Formats: sequence, structure tokens, C-alpha cells
Amino acid sequence: MSLDALPLREDLRGSVPYGAPQLDVAVRLNTNESSYDLPEPVALAVVEAVAREVRHLNRYPDREFTVLREELARYLGHDLATEQLWAANGSNEVLLQVLQAFGGPGRTALGFTPAYSMHPIITATTSTAWVDGRRGAASGDFDLDADDVARQVRDTDPDVVFLCSPNNPTGTALPLEVVRAAYEASGHAMVVVDEAYAEFARAGTPSALTLLPGRPRLVVTRTMSKAFAFAGARVGYLAGDPAVCDALRLVRLPYHLSSLTQAAAVAALRQAPVLLGTVAAIRAQRDRIVAALPGLGVQPVPSDANFVLFGGLADAAATWRDLLEHGVLVRDVGLPGYLRVTAGTPDETTAFLTALAATLEESR
Ligand SMILES: *Cc1c(COP(=O)(O)O)cnc(C)c1O
Repeated sequence: MSLDALPLREDLRGSVPYGAPQLDVAVRLNTNESSYDLPEPVALAVVEAVAREVRHLNRYPDREFTVLREELARYLGHDLATEQLWAANGSNEVLLQVLQAFGGPGRTALGFTPAYSMHPIITATTSTAWVDGRRGAASGDFDLDADDVARQVRDTDPDVVFLCSPNNPTGTALPLEVVRAAYEASGHAMVVVDEAYAEFARAGTPSALTLLPGRPRLVVTRTMSKAFAFAGARVGYLAGDPAVCDALRLVRLPYHLSSLTQAAAVAALRQAPVLLGTVAAIRAQRDRIVAALPGLGVQPVPSDANFVLFGGLADAAATWRDLLEHGVLVRDVGLPGYLRVTAGTPDETTAFLTALAATLEESR
């Protein structure tokens, strides 16, 4: 039976599944995971919390995941109330629920490419139309300019606007004036700021959480997949108006967060300072990569994330393959001349820089 022979939705025909290569390579720097295992005290706390739940798996979990929302509100601060927090199995599921509630057939989402490649993919799964906005029209680089964003929002008149700060794959955080401009220009749209990498931002970078008061159409999404080193547990969340959470209750599957997931996430959040202990070290590796790349003849984009996009490659796909042959897996994000590398441990940085130097040398 071929896929084409099935009565698949017309708008899914010809699509290919999303997926970065999961290859068994020594140095894996392609999906912006944390390279650090959970610290032992956190691992033990998670195991104990999960063990306590196991006996009660006969029952459905707390549908409202109240304790988890309390812990998320406490972690984020900004005077957020429990009712303003929502969580799901990864921020990708949070984004899906946002589109299920606010997108759909006949509706439109606008994002500013290049940004997170899952935004258009999740949008398409809900039969929402996607409009590719453009970055860098003013400056010629990947920056977004507030006036330009406002103009594109007015021209498109979308139902959902995606902003990503720090932006994946480019790395740079957005000035808040861009978020304000998008919100004001969009008369009725939900404005989503994807802050998956917020914890890695350079000092003095404000979060869009500060803009939530008085802006009921604004939501800020976060994840435990990156700074919290918790990608395998699948926990993402958003902060927004309590009415937004009410909207998401209409579309989420009942009991969408298992009791094991809730217990693990709560235990991890209660150890947040320990768990986030590697963030400073990862930032230092990020800065080390940014500082070292010009010496190799390639140009890094300024980064507030745990990765660096670098350009100036004659043939990015060939460099990607050569790095893999040297045992280093990075990401080809489909931007001509660019590759993206995750900042991991000091040894991984050394392995990457050594392999890149050798690769560029060989190709000269
Ligand atoms: C990695 C990433 C996420 C995380 O998704 P999860 O489903 O929470 O693992 C979300 N947004 C962006 C921009 C990312 O790069």
C-alpha cells in the first residue's frame, strides 16, 4: 500500500515528515539539546517523584496539572498567576493547540523566515494558511525592524503571528519594540513569541513576559527541552491571559499530560537552580565559538541562544558532510552558505572547531 493510494487530506499530499537526522556520531551538535546529563541530585529527585506516581497509574492524571502550573508560574516570576500558565508535551504541542484554537481552515498565520521550521509545519497540520514574512528587509541581515514587521502584519492581516526570540536558526533575540509593533499592527491576531532559548540570552535581554499585562492576545511559549536539559521528557509551556488557557482547554485532548510527565517536570522545576547550572558554561562555549569562527574565515551571527549560525561557506551541504566524516554532526538549516552548530561541552567545541578548520583547509 502506498501513501498516495490512501484517502489522505489533499493539503498533506506531497509533504515529507519533519526530522533532523538522529545519527550515532560522537559529537552531536545538531538539535540544540543540552550536552549535559541531568545532575545526579536532580536525576534522583525525578526518579523518586516518578516512582511515587507509578502505583497510581490506574487513575487518570490531574487534567489541570495544577501543581505543574504553580511551579511554572513560580519559576517564571513576573507576578504570573497559576491561571496564566499552560503546559503540554513539548512547546510544539502547545503551538499545535494554539493553532487548533486560533487557526484552522480559512485562517492565516504569519512568520518571519528564516525562523523555527516547525512553525509553518505545525500551521499546515491544522489547515491554516502560512504566509512567509521576510527578515532583514531594512538591514540586509537577519534582524527584524519594528516598522517593517508592523507593515507586513498589516498587509497580511493574519490570525496568528509567530515571533521567535532568540530566533532559531539565526540566534539573535528581538527587541521588545518589535513585539509591541506586531501586537499593535494586528487588530485581532494572537501574537506568539517563541522563547525556547530565553535562558541563554545575553545579559540585559528582556523577555516578552514583561509585555503580557494588558495584552490578552499575546502569548509567550517556553520549553524545558533546552536550558533545562529535559528534551526527552517532552515538556513545554506558555504564559498568557487566563482566557487563552480556557481556549486551549477546548482543543487539548483530555489528560494530555501524563502523571509521569507532570511528576518528572515538577521535580525538575523544584531543582531549577541546579538544573540550570550548566547554562553559564554553555553560554561560554557559545561565545567561544562566535569568537573563534572569524579566524577560520566564516562569519557567525550574534547569538543569544545555545547555538551559532555561521555563514560564508562556499558549499554548506559539502561542509556538513565533511564535518560528519570528522565525527561532528551539525545542522544544515537550508540557508545557502550557512550551517548551525549547538554549543555543548568545551571538548565538543574543540572537536567542532578542529574539524571545521580541517574541513575548510581540505576544501581550499
Ligand atoms: C527546540 C525548539 C522548541 C522546543 O520544542 P519542544 O517541543 O518543547 O521540544 C521550540 N521552539 C523553538 C524555536 C525551538 O528551537
